[in-house]
Amino acid sequence: MGNFVPAAVGKRLLAWGLVELLGLAVVVGVGLLLGWRSYQRCPHCGRLVRRAVQGWKRCGSCGRQYRRGLRVR
Ligand SMILES: [Zn+2]
Repeated sequence: MGNFVPAAVGKRLLAWGLVELLGLAVVVGVGLLLGWRSYQRCPHCGRLVRRAVQGWKRCGSCGRQYRRGLRVR
Protein backbone atom coordinates (compact mmCIF):
# COMPACT_ATOMS: atom_id res chain seq x y z
CA MET A 1 0.00 0.00 0.00
CA GLY A 2 2.01 2.94 -1.25
CA ASN A 3 1.50 5.81 -3.61
CA PHE A 4 2.99 3.76 -6.41
CA VAL A 5 1.01 4.19 -9.65
CA PRO A 6 1.19 1.17 -11.98
CA ALA A 7 1.78 1.77 -15.68
CA ALA A 8 -1.67 0.34 -16.49
CA VAL A 9 -3.35 3.13 -14.52
CA GLY A 10 -1.31 5.70 -16.40
CA LYS A 11 -2.38 4.14 -19.70
CA ARG A 12 -6.00 4.13 -18.56
CA LEU A 13 -5.75 7.82 -17.67
CA LEU A 14 -4.29 8.52 -21.12
CA ALA A 15 -7.16 6.59 -22.76
CA TRP A 16 -9.69 8.58 -20.76
CA GLY A 17 -8.03 11.76 -21.92
CA LEU A 18 -8.34 10.56 -25.51
CA VAL A 19 -12.02 9.64 -25.02
CA GLU A 20 -12.65 13.04 -23.46
CA LEU A 21 -10.91 14.78 -26.36
CA LEU A 22 -12.89 12.71 -28.87
CA GLY A 23 -16.15 13.54 -27.07
CA LEU A 24 -15.26 17.22 -27.07
CA ALA A 25 -14.49 17.08 -30.79
CA VAL A 26 -17.86 15.40 -31.47
CA VAL A 27 -19.70 17.99 -29.36
CA VAL A 28 -17.93 20.85 -31.13
CA GLY A 29 -18.60 19.28 -34.53
CA VAL A 30 -22.31 18.75 -33.81
CA GLY A 31 -22.56 22.25 -32.38
CA LEU A 32 -20.97 23.72 -35.49
CA LEU A 33 -23.26 21.67 -37.70
CA LEU A 34 -26.38 22.76 -35.79
CA GLY A 35 -25.16 26.35 -35.72
CA TRP A 36 -24.49 26.28 -39.44
CA ARG A 37 -27.88 24.70 -40.16
CA SER A 38 -29.71 27.49 -38.31
CA TYR A 39 -28.21 30.05 -40.66
CA GLN A 40 -28.35 30.62 -44.39
CA ARG A 41 -26.96 33.13 -46.82
CA CYS A 42 -29.24 35.94 -47.93
CA PRO A 43 -30.15 35.17 -51.55
CA HIS A 44 -29.95 38.87 -52.40
CA CYS A 45 -26.76 40.16 -50.82
CA GLY A 46 -25.11 36.97 -49.60
CA ARG A 47 -24.92 38.01 -45.97
CA LEU A 48 -25.24 35.33 -43.29
CA VAL A 49 -28.80 35.57 -41.95
CA ARG A 50 -31.00 33.45 -39.72
CA ARG A 51 -32.60 30.59 -41.59
CA ALA A 52 -36.25 31.09 -42.40
CA VAL A 53 -37.74 27.80 -41.23
CA GLN A 54 -41.22 28.72 -42.39
CA GLY A 55 -42.63 31.81 -44.03
CA TRP A 56 -40.59 34.81 -45.01
CA LYS A 57 -37.90 36.71 -43.19
CA ARG A 58 -36.41 40.09 -43.89
CA CYS A 59 -32.69 40.47 -44.35
CA GLY A 60 -31.21 43.00 -41.94
CA SER A 61 -28.58 44.06 -44.44
CA CYS A 62 -30.43 44.67 -47.71
CA GLY A 63 -33.98 44.80 -46.28
CA ARG A 64 -35.34 42.37 -48.84
CA GLN A 65 -37.33 39.30 -47.91
CA TYR A 66 -36.15 35.78 -48.32
CA ARG A 67 -37.43 32.34 -47.55
CA ARG A 68 -36.01 28.89 -47.11
CA GLY A 69 -34.46 27.51 -50.27
CA LEU A 70 -34.86 30.70 -52.25
CA ARG A 71 -32.15 31.14 -54.84
CA VAL A 72 -31.90 34.49 -56.58
CA ARG A 73 -28.25 34.96 -57.37
ZN1 LIG B 1 -29.69 40.60 -47.90
